[in-house]
Amino acid sequence: AKADGKGTWTRYRPQLYESAMERVRLRTSLDTAIGKDEFFLCYQPIVDLRGGKERVAGFEALVRWQHPEFGLLTPDQFIPLAEETGQIVQLGEWILARAIADAARWNAGRAGTATRRVTVNVSAHQFLDDGLVNWIDRQLGDAGLPSDLLILEITETAFLHHHGPEVQQNLHALSEIGVRIAVDDFGTGYSSIAYLRDLHIDILKADRSFVARIAEDSSHLRLLKGIVTVAYALEIDVVAEGVETVAQRDLLRKMGCRYAQGYYYSPAVPVDRVAPLAAELEGR
Ligand code: C2E
Ligand code: CA
Ligand code: CA
Ligand code: CA
Repeated sequence: AKADGKGTWTRYRPQLYESAMERVRLRTSLDTAIGKDEFFLCYQPIVDLRGGKERVAGFEALVRWQHPEFGLLTPDQFIPLAEETGQIVQLGEWILARAIADAARWNAGRAGTATRRVTVNVSAHQFLDDGLVNWIDRQLGDAGLPSDLLILEITETAFLHHHGPEVQQNLHALSEIGVRIAVDDFGTGYSSIAYLRDLHIDILKADRSFVARIAEDSSHLRLLKGIVTVAYALEIDVVAEGVETVAQRDLLRKMGCRYAQGYYYSPAVPVDRVAPLAAELEGR
């Protein structure tokens, strides 16, 4: 990618990725990228809509790769490849460790309700590892982050394709140590909410394709209302993703959806912007 003169970066063209040569180069560079400190995390706020005053409940960690040759890469450009090659396991550990350390830092000195959680995307691959939960527990202890401030996000499809005993065991063990689980992109697959409850799911993230049209299309609005109602009946919290407008935010508040995330509040920001952004959002 090249800087386009307006201070933004042109997206790395996906066609390049499809050429075998570029794929090999990307894959090879993935092996050394962690050691060369080329990855970094950005954080997008998740806002609690309940009550009179909106509060930043936490941040979702979203990985970026400053590639020496291809420029700034977004996760869609390398996570699928890393999943395919298994490199996601090592990268996923780096991401989790960094996010836990960052959250420990931004919560230092804040007690009780003033704390802000961190939520981290985890691939199905990582979930198949039976050492995952012990490893996470150790990271939390080392960083000094209370386990209830960590949430792991797993996509709906990851559950559907891996419903073996390892996944169930990991989910159970995580809930035992107090780490919460969110189902990402809910509504894009085929799972039912009742099934999610059996898997110790605490949070459901309604995919932005649902949220996108609630202000224009009453059938989308009714669908999301239905999801929220059923989820709350099962004591599952709901985060609406991809909230871009005040109209959407108002509808979410009205239907009783507790959490919202999206460009209406902010895109993901570098870690040093986390605290000032939260203050700004809560002050407005
Ligand atoms: P996701 O988990 O569904 O993350 C939300 C994506 O939607 C992010 O893109 C975010 O920047 C974007 N987004 C947030 N708010 C809005 C909005 O209001 N409107 C629109 N149009 N988009 C919005 P991003 O950062 O490019 O991440 C893409 C996907 O890559 C993520 O989707 C997630 O599945 C995956 N990913 C990101 N970070 C990680 C990671 O650390 N590990 C793993 N395994 N996957 C990751
Ligand atoms: Ca996510
Ligand atoms: Ca999502
Ligand atoms: Ca997504």
